[in-house]
Amino acid sequence: MGIAISAAQVDPRVVSFLEKPRQMLINGRWVDSVSGKTFSTFDPSTGEVLAQVAEGDREDIDLAVKAARKAFDDGPWRRLTPSERGRLVWKLADLLEQHLEEFAYLESLDNGKPLTVARAADVPLAVDLFRYMAGWATKLEGHTIPISVPYTPGAKYLSYTLREPVGVVGQIIPWNFPLLMAAWKLGPALATGCTVVLKPAEQTPLSALLLGELILEAGFPEGVVNVVPGFGETAGAALAAHLDVDKVAFTGSTEVGKLIVHAAAGNLKKVSLELGGKSPNVIFKDADIETAIAGATSAIFFNHGQCCCAGSRLYVEKPIFDKVVDGIAERAQKIKVGPGLDAATDMGPLVSEEQLNRVCGYLASGAAEGAKALAGGKKHGDKGYFVEPTVLVNTREDMKVVQEEIFGPVVAAMPFEKPEDIVPRANDNVYGLAAGVWTNDINKAHRMAEHLRAGTVWINCYNIFDAALPFGGYKQSGWGREMGRDVLDLYTQTKAVCTRLG
Ligand code: ADP
Repeated sequence: MGIAISAAQVDPRVVSFLEKPRQMLINGRWVDSVSGKTFSTFDPSTGEVLAQVAEGDREDIDLAVKAARKAFDDGPWRRLTPSERGRLVWKLADLLEQHLEEFAYLESLDNGKPLTVARAADVPLAVDLFRYMAGWATKLEGHTIPISVPYTPGAKYLSYTLREPVGVVGQIIPWNFPLLMAAWKLGPALATGCTVVLKPAEQTPLSALLLGELILEAGFPEGVVNVVPGFGETAGAALAAHLDVDKVAFTGSTEVGKLIVHAAAGNLKKVSLELGGKSPNVIFKDADIETAIAGATSAIFFNHGQCCCAGSRLYVEKPIFDKVVDGIAERAQKIKVGPGLDAATDMGPLVSEEQLNRVCGYLASGAAEGAKALAGGKKHGDKGYFVEPTVLVNTREDMKVVQEEIFGPVVAAMPFEKPEDIVPRANDNVYGLAAGVWTNDINKAHRMAEHLRAGTVWINCYNIFDAALPFGGYKQSGWGREMGRDVLDLYTQTKAVCTRLG
């Protein structure tokens, strides 16, 4: 068996999925890469090879884009009624739900996250997203618009708008929520009638490939969804630059987001970006302290801090600072770090050795600049890519650990004295993805919500996601909104039709 896991631990359907090299999905068929190359995906709890996957590159992207183009321009897909399209998306949700266990295992093995979390959050959220988007297929309405043209006096017109799919979409997704990010991207694209070439992250390609099997089983016509695994600089870059792709949707680092914008310039394809963050989480002294401590702990340590919206800059009003940071540190020390498949695990490994080194680099930089770890502060164990949940104090705004996105289980905590000082400090960052506010003063809460420059503000909660709530960034955290009705704007364009009536 080509995998380094004990079959006894794992759903047998997952073991057989991992046994053979996984191919890519192009034009409704599973195929090898043109080059014949494969790459390995690893179990981050051991660093051992989990499976072999076909390695897509420029030629494969080209074939996939051709298939998506044909499916969009000439295929049966465009002739489906909105209701038929919605039913297919709903069917995909049903199939995903039926296969919840396999997906939960695959996510846990490939990404490292606890199986319990994948079961309770990643897969159900993906199912819900598809169901929510299925409903939109029948509600993509235009408007009738009365017009008053000054240079054709007396003429009467009937004018209306049509909302049409944007076309062939390239979707490039990250490794932190592999299935859920695929769902966030595919759901609206399919509901609106686009066709897709999806490139999953090289660290976590497996759940998107299993989803590809369900897409075929659901009955989507060939070429509507193509899944091409491969690396960012090769397959990803080719997709972002492809001249026959009408839109690229990207989730990942701000650094790569900027490359995507450049790559898209060749044919001025539409671009949407969901990028990094360094989200402020602000606790006022009038908050329910125990709730805020629990909330701030989960805001940073959920998914091992590998969330673009992680509450990684913690601001606590001075009189309660020590109590809050001690409380978070105590909770951090109790977090059980271990392999995702172990039922006792609260926090798994980081996704890769590269991430481990990156996060440890930030821990070293924080220590060198004078930050003190109240909890954690180093790598955990000798095998796999584990890091201790870390709470840093003695931090200042000019430190790298406060300014830059770490994308790991590391929170930098700072006290604040005057409530009026906190808004500029919270906004003093290039990112603007999310923010948290903890207070029992309803006026203060909503004033903060108004002034924080972030795409999401959570009040007395954190990391609450719903298919109906738009998510995306201010400033360098991105362009456009995922989910909710807002995402439909990213996958449709408006056509104005003007008829002169006789
Ligand atoms: P991280 O640094 O956290 O791994 P990235 O932004 O590098 O996040 O990766 C997110 C996604 O972007 C992955 O699917 C990756 O393969 C892809 N990617 C990376 N570099 C490029 C690039 N130059 N062009 C297009 N896609 C890329």
